[in-house]
Amino acid sequence: MRYSGFKVFTEGLFGNSGWKPAWRDPAPKAEYDILIIGGGGHGLATAYYLAKNHGLRNIAVLEKGYLGGGNVGRNTTIVRANYFLPGNSEFYSHSLKLWEKLEGELNYNVMHSQRGQLILAHSDGQRDALARRGNAIVNQGDDAELWSLDQVRDFAPYLDFEQTRFPIYGGLMQRRAGTARHDAVAWGYARGADRLGVDLIQNCEVTGIDIENGRVTGVQTTRGAIKARKVGMVVAGRSSQVAAMAGMRLPIESHVLQAFVTEGLKPVIDSVISFGMGHFYISQSDKGGLVFGGDLDFYASYAARGNLPMLEHVMEAAMTLMPMIGRAKILRGWGGIMDMTPDGSPIIDKAPVEGLFVDAGWNYGGFKATPASGWCMAHLMATGEPHEVARRFRLDRFRTGHVLDEEGTGSQHNLH
Ligand SMILES: Cc1cc2nc3c(=O)[nH]c(=O)nc-3n(C[C@H](O)[C@H](O)[C@H](O)COP(=O)(O)OP(=O)(O)OC[C@H]3O[C@@H](n4cnc5c(N)ncnc54)[C@H](O)[C@@H]3O)c2cc1C
Repeated sequence: MRYSGFKVFTEGLFGNSGWKPAWRDPAPKAEYDILIIGGGGHGLATAYYLAKNHGLRNIAVLEKGYLGGGNVGRNTTIVRANYFLPGNSEFYSHSLKLWEKLEGELNYNVMHSQRGQLILAHSDGQRDALARRGNAIVNQGDDAELWSLDQVRDFAPYLDFEQTRFPIYGGLMQRRAGTARHDAVAWGYARGADRLGVDLIQNCEVTGIDIENGRVTGVQTTRGAIKARKVGMVVAGRSSQVAAMAGMRLPIESHVLQAFVTEGLKPVIDSVISFGMGHFYISQSDKGGLVFGGDLDFYASYAARGNLPMLEHVMEAAMTLMPMIGRAKILRGWGGIMDMTPDGSPIIDKAPVEGLFVDAGWNYGGFKATPASGWCMAHLMATGEPHEVARRFRLDRFRTGHVLDEEGTGSQHNLH
């Protein structure tokens, strides 16, 4: 079924009785050519592009819970392409271009909204660093504007311009950045993959990876053994645990990241605003809630839930930046498990086991990467060669030293 305004109109006339499930619910077959472990955004996008770009058909996605129940449905939905380092910048640039055509490509409204992102500078040094970043972004072919204090004041008058602890000096605006509805992205890719024949198998946890003579032969799951010649591990916060099933020890620590949403308010914040002096970023959802997130919990954990110390930490940053937020009521908070690498950049690479592939290490930033991650992982799995925009996301860079430390904070997972 193709979605359209006309279809919505005619369904409205006939009691909305003609809608069909957006994807099938097949039982797992005994064997596939390719298995993708993980039905998050990246796993679904990988399956979609394997079928769409490479014409492959005998593919299944194995998801231990329900599609989109992981981080893809828990993030603060920010999409941008304002990375600094070669290796990252061309990849996120490619991703943003895919975002710009995604709704047409998938025939699905993912509510991609290019409302802009403004990163604030709170010192001369920070403003210089943003100018340098802006130049790198423009050289990459994306957009960036260095804004003065007056421009920021005109654009976001609700920020606190009087406070002296973290005075605002200006900011870096990327107008093509913005937000998208996170779970719709998972649903759109799921529907697209299903239409191309991919089996999406929910409630199917992978419990073991079968390897014979150094090559993968399939997986063990809670719904039985499934054979395959190629297996992709695309499980975000669970990457270390799943890789351990293949005898691998990944350079990843898993940490909880929380986000919050307020009650619905009238339109007040019409872009994404990122605080330069703390980990705090905010936007307003189409329902009116202020959506914001903060820093990681500073200890490793697999507990995908919130806690009060980090709530306090995030609220401090919020009140520092925009005291008006103190009048809003928090509706809820939640947590997701982040797969943090020592340099803050991801991995899309072959594993040391023949036929096994890794897509992991997305840190805080994997939502915006969803289209390009799927695109590049599919390219790698189909051709055996890294895609040119993901060629630096190698697993062995932590051994060779060719790291991509965007933040310049050194090899401490929770600081990126
Ligand atoms: C609070 C928060 C805010 C964030 N904000 C942003 C943001 O604004 N912008 C941005 O770009 N990024 C953001 N992120 C990061 C982003 O959400 C993640 O990097 C990205 O979603 C990870 O990729 P994914 O969608 O494939 O992960 P997931 O959705 O977590 O998918 C992995 C899937 O694997 C499944 N799985 C795990 N183990 C197994 C197994 N053994 N067998 C079968 N299935 C398994 C899981 O159930 C899960 O569904 C944020 C994350 C959080 C938590």
